[in-house]
Amino acid sequence: MWFLYVLSIIILIGCSDVVFNPQEVPAGSQSDYNMKLSMDTNGRFSADVSIDILNVSNEKWDELKLYFIPNMFTSENAPQLNTPSEIGIESVKIDNIDSSYSLEKDTLKVPLKSSVSPNGSVKFQMKYHFTVPSDGFRFEKIDSNYHLAQWYPMVPTYQKGWNKQAYRSKGETYHTTFSNFNGTFDIPKDYTLVTTFDEDSYPGRSSNSFKIENVKEIFVAILKDPKVIQKESNNVNIRVFGKDESEEFLDEVAETAVESFNYFQRNIGPYPHKQLDIILDGPGMEYPGAVTAGSIYGRSVTNKEIKTIVIHEIAHQWFYGMVSNDPYTDAWLDEGIAEFATYLFLMPNEKEIRYLDLSDSEEPMPSNLPLHEYSKSLQSNYIYGQSFTNLAKIFNQHGGKQTAEDFFKRYFTLYKYKEVDTDEFVRFMKFYLELEDDALFEGWLELGNTENE
Ligand SMILES: [Zn+2]
Repeated sequence: MWFLYVLSIIILIGCSDVVFNPQEVPAGSQSDYNMKLSMDTNGRFSADVSIDILNVSNEKWDELKLYFIPNMFTSENAPQLNTPSEIGIESVKIDNIDSSYSLEKDTLKVPLKSSVSPNGSVKFQMKYHFTVPSDGFRFEKIDSNYHLAQWYPMVPTYQKGWNKQAYRSKGETYHTTFSNFNGTFDIPKDYTLVTTFDEDSYPGRSSNSFKIENVKEIFVAILKDPKVIQKESNNVNIRVFGKDESEEFLDEVAETAVESFNYFQRNIGPYPHKQLDIILDGPGMEYPGAVTAGSIYGRSVTNKEIKTIVIHEIAHQWFYGMVSNDPYTDAWLDEGIAEFATYLFLMPNEKEIRYLDLSDSEEPMPSNLPLHEYSKSLQSNYIYGQSFTNLAKIFNQHGGKQTAEDFFKRYFTLYKYKEVDTDEFVRFMKFYLELEDDALFEGWLELGNTENE
């Protein structure tokens, strides 16, 4: 012990640069998923998902609480849908024994007959079948394509209890930590699989067995006769999938994707996967290794807007995909920063960061409130716009674009595969920019929410 102590003092003295110690928000749970999904020619799916969940919190668990978001699209929970999802749960097991459970909205609760102590683990298993609504959201059928986001039971983080918030249709109300996944997929022959996994291939059939580590979730799209443009960049296969778009436009999107992807790799850090898939359909949304970019909350968008959405969603591969934050309580940390990174890329030759000053007519509110505290119409102004503007102002006072790029490279290196909250971000920013107080955060961030500070 003394040896380590002395060694750490030598390191601290030898290199003043390392005195900043990142303090991550602990995930509390750690999961290994094994998923089997099959689809028949009528679009009926059956799934068998087994999850080994390790208790890495300090508390013992007497129940599991999981997200099961497909249940938000049934006729009971979404009576407005024309073709709601039909879901049937066939079995729920704990450590291979049938278990009782309750499912209300997107909360699946499973009592544990024997509690799980810290460092103990439990195996959860669920077999179910489902259909996909044609007017869902992220979990939806679009023409003859299927987009399966959050289609399986997902383990929340455990931070003084299961950190499971109620589903909302605006923003991301689910928060999962870095997990490992194995999957097998069985889909009809005339469809193409496009997923978070690296092994998808097109044209030609994918193998149907997949494996990936350290990702927060798995997205699966099942596409009928897509058009595709593929580009290779630094050994990463970037693929753009469209349907009715012209070849020329697909090619422009692929160019934009490659340029922004290269910029983020150069200025933030390396991308961890071998493939990045961009589907020009569905709402602008990020998933590990895959993004969708066809609309914004149901509003159709121009070709120019699509390119900006693609850049924003690619930026999320770093801010969300590798640096994690709770999108319910600290959404600005991935949304505001992805937006900020997008504009850094779009302003290659400028020293100062251009931003739009917000009108004074809005009610002043911080950018880091839990989602339910915002009105749905203004939520994005605070989470995306206000945080972007204030970051731009701060960096412009401290060296402009170059400082911002250096800052985010360092931030990424320190927090890669960790969870950050607002207080921790501010703590690092104050260290990096040598700020003496919180004055630059007043009015747009609410500080002091982290416990034991
Ligand atoms: Zn975003």
